[in-house]
Amino acid sequence: PPAVERRTTRSTCCYCGVGCGVLVHSRHDAAGERITGVEGDPLHPANLGRLCSKGRTLAETARSLHGRALVPELRHRRQDPRPPVDWAVALDSVADRLANIVERHGPDAVAFYLSGQLLTEDYYVFNKLAKGLLRTNNIDTNSRLCMSAAVTGYKLAFGADGPPTCYEDLEHAKTVLFAGSNAAWAHPVLFRRLEEARAKDPDVRWIVVDPRRTDTAAMADLHLQIQPGTDVALFNGMLHHLVWEGLLDQAFIDRHTTGFSELKRLLRDYSPRMAAEICGVPVEDLVTAAEWFGRSAASLSLYCMGLNQSVHGTDKNLALIHLHLATRQLGRPGAGPFSLTGQPNAMGGREVGGMATMLAAHREITDPAHRAEVEALWQLPQGSLPPQPGLAAVELFEAVRAGRIKAIWIACTNPAHSMPDLGPVREALQRAELVIVQEAFANTDTVPYADVLLPAATWGEKEGTVTNSERRISRVRAAVAPPGQARPDWWIAREVALRLEARLAAPGAAPLFAADTPAAIFAEHRALTVGRDLDIGGLDYAVLEQRGPQQWPFRAGAEQGDARRYADGVFATADGRARFHVTPYRPVAEPTSARFPLRLLTGRLRDQWHGMSRTGRVPALYTHSPEPALRMHPEDAARRGLKAGELVRVSSKRGGLVLPLELSDEVGSGTVFAAMHWSGQHLASGGINELSQPAVDTRSRQPELKHAAVRVERA
Ligand code: SF4
Repeated sequence: PPAVERRTTRSTCCYCGVGCGVLVHSRHDAAGERITGVEGDPLHPANLGRLCSKGRTLAETARSLHGRALVPELRHRRQDPRPPVDWAVALDSVADRLANIVERHGPDAVAFYLSGQLLTEDYYVFNKLAKGLLRTNNIDTNSRLCMSAAVTGYKLAFGADGPPTCYEDLEHAKTVLFAGSNAAWAHPVLFRRLEEARAKDPDVRWIVVDPRRTDTAAMADLHLQIQPGTDVALFNGMLHHLVWEGLLDQAFIDRHTTGFSELKRLLRDYSPRMAAEICGVPVEDLVTAAEWFGRSAASLSLYCMGLNQSVHGTDKNLALIHLHLATRQLGRPGAGPFSLTGQPNAMGGREVGGMATMLAAHREITDPAHRAEVEALWQLPQGSLPPQPGLAAVELFEAVRAGRIKAIWIACTNPAHSMPDLGPVREALQRAELVIVQEAFANTDTVPYADVLLPAATWGEKEGTVTNSERRISRVRAAVAPPGQARPDWWIAREVALRLEARLAAPGAAPLFAADTPAAIFAEHRALTVGRDLDIGGLDYAVLEQRGPQQWPFRAGAEQGDARRYADGVFATADGRARFHVTPYRPVAEPTSARFPLRLLTGRLRDQWHGMSRTGRVPALYTHSPEPALRMHPEDAARRGLKAGELVRVSSKRGGLVLPLELSDEVGSGTVFAAMHWSGQHLASGGINELSQPAVDTRSRQPELKHAAVRVERA
């Protein structure tokens, strides 16, 4: 009988920012190799063996090659079919066409649109290719749609990106404030840890701020069902009460912060009564929330897309952080503001600077000293890095549509489904001179626009690292080889980079892409972090192998990373003080009107992930929510003569969608809800983002994906 080898590979789940450790079981024999099962890694500190429904079914997503991109494909004219070609032909063609566009139109005519699901090593190579070789900052990612407002919030308040907290705080918190986070569905394993902590300590209280009565809200001790977008008014009102009741840590404010007196003046306009009126909640509930938060031995805030995906997302983050700063609810076990990352590696992408608005290792593009540091580390001539930030996601696709960007390279993401206001995004992809799509799955909504399709390896087939919500870097390991001709993302980017380097680099220039393994790329990334807030000078693949996943910062010589930050009250600003900011409440970008009288909210389902390229392959994951639907309050449906199950058309100024109607008082009257997952694969159109808002927050440049004014009528 042929020899059968069974292996177990330690890796990390590829879905959400919890970053659970997994043990991947695989079978290898003469007929081939395949992943046979996945279980939780009991030694990973994020999940200690637990997995949610998505993680538990990872093996099923890896079994079938149906829908996988397996060979490079290339066409020279958009109207032609896209036949398979060899890798060498595809890579040469991509390099030639990009070089040609750069020579004709300059480097900013090229753009990259990446993904928080890429590994840190993939991100690193792409970022160096864009900024270091081509010299364009037009490299943004779907993380812009996810965590940008959390980043600007942290930077403005603390002087540096990244949460000050860690997962152990879930077990130490006495008051947990969920804001715009349905953690029960979106971060299930963390939610289990919270449930267990509350079961052990009946004094633990949960407050949930959410316009919907989600599963998280249903389990709360206090649910503040605010009107959509009124979070800033709520947090200002709570802080007003804390000021009034003397529940501040005035000594901490005086010694470790600036800007509180200006904020205090603004707070006069946010009496609890006034704030409660704006939010549409009972004033007693607002006061109770403030009391629980302010008087608690340890208050922890968990927040997510409900705060971030907003034109005022930065202010929402800041107003929440103000509550922590004013009461010194941070820097000790169980206390602090804690943004829950949506994607598995949004943090890692930021660490390497893989976005239009930042440089490597949390450096600023606009800071000449930071540019000079990166130039020195990359051995580039002084002054070669472009000084202006590039275009962020929404502006980037608009520039493609307007013809200012000629070529766009999209990797590991599906903007024809996930960007807001899909009509103009599709136009942009149609008009672009060159669309390169690097994908593991050939059936996404974006692939039909590709002039070049580059087949990528995916989870279970590639090596690298990811950073989860608590700043913990974990290894991702290959259990099997990629199928067909699929290749790791870093390899594809590097192969094109080498070809472009041969053509564009100045004679005698130092080679930029010498690192030719994930470990070597990680080592190069590490060198850029030394001396920075995220210093990982003490970390390499060998340390991760021996000691398992580690948190940053992890400095050279350290035994371990820092679990919490700012415990000493010294922040990452120039003077070491945290900053309060003036955060007035401002309404949503698109108010309701006579034509569009309802508020559309969007969000996740428990068992699906993003555009369902992966989770959509598992029948069991449809049992929880078998089909797309529009959820409406029964009274709103009765007023319109609509019944459960009938097809309705939901429309905004930008587009419409036909969905079955579901009745539920989970949404308040005047509000409807639809999940973000269902895409053109399942519907006649691109999904709920046909309707959503392209308006962005001016500081984070994150769009208001969470809210749009709509109407609903019988289809
Ligand atoms: Fe994967 Fe997130 Fe579920 Fe953990 S909680 S198993 S990381 S999807």
